[in-house]
Amino acid sequence: MPEGPEIHRAANKIRKALEGKVIEDIEITLPRYLERSQDFLGKTVQRVEARGKAMLIHFDTFVMYSHNQLYGRWTVNRKDTEPKKWNRSLRISLTTDKHTCRLWSATDILLMEPWELSGHPYLEKLGPDVVIPETTTSQLVEHMKNKKFQRRRLKTLLLDQGFFAGIGNYLRSEVLFTSGLHPDRTVSSLSDEEKTKLSEQALFLSRQSYDVPGITVELELYDQLRSLGMSRGQARHWVFTRNERPCHQCGELILHTRPGGRRLDYCPVCQH
Ligand SMILES: [Zn+2]
Repeated sequence: MPEGPEIHRAANKIRKALEGKVIEDIEITLPRYLERSQDFLGKTVQRVEARGKAMLIHFDTFVMYSHNQLYGRWTVNRKDTEPKKWNRSLRISLTTDKHTCRLWSATDILLMEPWELSGHPYLEKLGPDVVIPETTTSQLVEHMKNKKFQRRRLKTLLLDQGFFAGIGNYLRSEVLFTSGLHPDRTVSSLSDEEKTKLSEQALFLSRQSYDVPGITVELELYDQLRSLGMSRGQARHWVFTRNERPCHQCGELILHTRPGGRRLDYCPVCQH
């Protein structure tokens, strides 16, 4: 599933293709919205925005909300390029004078009035977004003080979009490692310094992973590992998918766990 950095990169591509542009052609295959094509045609896209793992395309009088869940995918092509032939079904395609943006396989798509956004069950419970530059360390530390988080373990909480929006599976393992925190720790067990460290690392790694796609290790280390012959996949993370391999910091073997059925890897020495 794409995480915050990937969603924001996708949003950038769509923003470049759509923002300020007029929709000249549209295809909708969603049964409940078949009649809505006219609402799009000839209208200008005001703004494209990612919130957590949701994408919002704002028009003057309505907003198209989509959440990709596991299988949804956006593609952006020049208008005269044939759509990709693949095993996904087209939900909606928006064409401007130059580009066509297509959303495939997503099931969670809504056309909403702007005022409905704040009451939407997913958007309403989103925590601060770790990828956008406006979010600060102190905001995250403050958010972490909420009573409802105190007894929860970091390993489950970090995937909860109501905690830090945008953190997904690889970032969860990586942020815990660079914060030096064991996945079983609860929020209430963290010292003030540990809370600050966790917040700083959540912001730092998400933003680096946005700027340098999917790389969470220090860039100098990454280059060094690549020059030693490691693949991009082997070199890009501190612990994620590196189980049974030596920790870059202490040499101990990285451990693999699957809380809630999703991979979490950590160093038993560096994280406590
Ligand atoms: Zn270690």
